[in-house]
Amino acid sequence: MIQIQNLYKAYNGIAILDNINLNIQRSEIFGIVGQSGAGKSTLLRCINGLESFDKGKIIVNSTDISALSEKDLLSFRRKIGMIFQNFALLNRRTVIDNVMLPMECWHYPKEARRKKAQELLEIVGLADKTMALPHELSGGQKQRVAIARALTLEPDILLCDEATSALDPAITKSILDLLADVNRQMGITIVIVTHDMSVVKGVCNRMAIVTGKQIAAVGEVSETFLAEPSSLLELIGKKEVVAPASHRILRLSLRDTSIDQAFLNDFVSKLKLEFTIIAANVEQFYGKSCGHLYLSIAVENIERARAYCLNKGMDCTVLVPGGRPGGKDDVL
Ligand code: ADP
Repeated sequence: MIQIQNLYKAYNGIAILDNINLNIQRSEIFGIVGQSGAGKSTLLRCINGLESFDKGKIIVNSTDISALSEKDLLSFRRKIGMIFQNFALLNRRTVIDNVMLPMECWHYPKEARRKKAQELLEIVGLADKTMALPHELSGGQKQRVAIARALTLEPDILLCDEATSALDPAITKSILDLLADVNRQMGITIVIVTHDMSVVKGVCNRMAIVTGKQIAAVGEVSETFLAEPSSLLELIGKKEVVAPASHRILRLSLRDTSIDQAFLNDFVSKLKLEFTIIAANVEQFYGKSCGHLYLSIAVENIERARAYCLNKGMDCTVLVPGGRPGGKDDVL
């Protein structure tokens, strides 16, 4: 659906994005995360042609956007909706007038505009606010208006630039639920730029981490969190799990499962292995729960323990001292 190939973009000769390669599939909800200034918004604006780029290609729905004329670019953008952190509503226009705006620009007949806007306001839960002015709405309601407006031209893709960053956690959750409904019911591909990991965990199928002008990791969200690439740990500032010098940590990845008691008992009785559980976590992702169990095991036994877990079909990694996975495992 969206193919980004060897993208290079510089401002005033300084590279912002370098050698970006990314494929976003039809009807998925894709998260782009990274620290502030990493180039996420620039990448998003390149996708809808709001921003030009210096090298590479972006192909959206089989259209090579760098080959489009100004006029064709305008029609291309009709099929891409966008929402922003600051909602970008016109303060003097009522809710319904704000929603009708894109259809006005494209000269839709008046009655058709009103009918479509009313339908969309119903979908976003604001049927009773059609005549309100933006300043009479909460932040979450304003973002719902912006979502309705972004959907008026029936886009194939909805781009969200930090769309929930100004909202509190409960309202963020309700907006993410709305985006998930829009994705399910209308099949719209959604690309979400955010610095907030709870957003990607809450709604995205796959994610990419942008750091150092490049894509450092890309993969399914739960798998990325389970693999803990160093780019992710830098972003979330995860505390290191520490074992005594005589021990190593065996990290077991849990996918929608728990470890049964028999598995741990066998460590002691069959392998004659002593271990200490030093940490465990389970996190909720869009549709599943996954986590890690960290066992501290004496250095001389660690390889035997690892082999046993692998033999039992467990996903496990021996962490190097300091608690991070050995090696660079950034691209999943
Ligand atoms: P993010 O969305 O990850 O916070 P941005 O894409 O907004 O990052 O910005 C990436 C970098 O590009 C930043 O260093 C920013 O200062 C710079 N930048 C963004 N827009 C412009 C511009 N119009 N002119 C010059 N530099 C820009």
